[in-house]
Amino acid sequence: MQNEMRALAKTAPAPGLEMISAPVPEIRPDDVLIRVNKTGICGTDIHIWNWDDWAAGTVPVPLITGHEFAGEIVELGANVTGLFRGQRVSGEGHLIGTQSRQSRAGKFHLDPGTRGIGVNEQGAFAEYLRLPAFNVVPLPNEIDDEVGAILDPLGNAVHTALSFDLIGEDVLVTGAGPIGIMAAAVARNVGARHVVITDVNADRLALAAEVADVRPVNVAEEDLTQVISDLGMKEGFDIGLEMSGNQIALDQMVESLVMGGRIALLGIPPGKSPVDWSRIVFKAITIKGVYGREIFETWYKMIALLQNGLDVRRVITHRFPAADYRAGFDAMLSGKSGKVVLDWTAG
Ligand code: ZN
Repeated sequence: MQNEMRALAKTAPAPGLEMISAPVPEIRPDDVLIRVNKTGICGTDIHIWNWDDWAAGTVPVPLITGHEFAGEIVELGANVTGLFRGQRVSGEGHLIGTQSRQSRAGKFHLDPGTRGIGVNEQGAFAEYLRLPAFNVVPLPNEIDDEVGAILDPLGNAVHTALSFDLIGEDVLVTGAGPIGIMAAAVARNVGARHVVITDVNADRLALAAEVADVRPVNVAEEDLTQVISDLGMKEGFDIGLEMSGNQIALDQMVESLVMGGRIALLGIPPGKSPVDWSRIVFKAITIKGVYGREIFETWYKMIALLQNGLDVRRVITHRFPAADYRAGFDAMLSGKSGKVVLDWTAG
């Protein structure tokens, strides 16, 4: 095997990423080495590309970025059992500790010492990735590398959507980015009645309607109250999935929810934001913050959903060879794209 690989790295504390030649990672006894075939570009990668305050305060330099991937195991550490060379895999990019109360209770996604590949540790935008065997998720044949590369954000969507029972419920999704769109698709797939998705970006709303059987609403042009009455909902939405981090969207969600409604929050506001708490109290609303994916319950559920007909492939709007990563980031930065997938197998 080669000892050098191509990798997309932050090489200086400034905007942009650079394609570099880096040593192929050496694995430890509990790790596997994965040959990366496809990777997805995440909103997190855009923060890192832009080198905003969060990125500058979080990401060490130099660092290979990227955390959404699918590939194939090429090497197994001495202690690794239950996996094999040639196995097609994706994996959880959150590396967790084993000593916290939550970890020891099996709630691995709540471990406070979590470190992220491509954020705190060397990442997946590379021809090879070292990953603890514990984090590996084998891919069944029905899930190809392209969809395998977006399981991380699909997992965010599934984790958020399955926070509450959606069967027969009316669901409002605020924010039609790729994760919002996939959450709406999951809500539809598991048996929600009305699924409405809001945004102010017409391209994203059009994509939402293409990916899932949902009602897109451009809140800059349409009145949500009117939509509620058009759909014949008497009292409003039962469940809200907030995916935008936008204060106005959250206000609108609280306003349009039924008494006792429930909200799962995945969107991250840019800073502290004013919330009308009295409205939330008087409407007896339950709010749940959602972080990452449940390790590994969300992975189990989403693979089962995909095997059972959930189709999110159309949320991928752009595909580029890894060498053309600039075009991929341009597509993301345009604000008009869905998921962008980079192919690491081509030259
Ligand atoms: Zn991601």
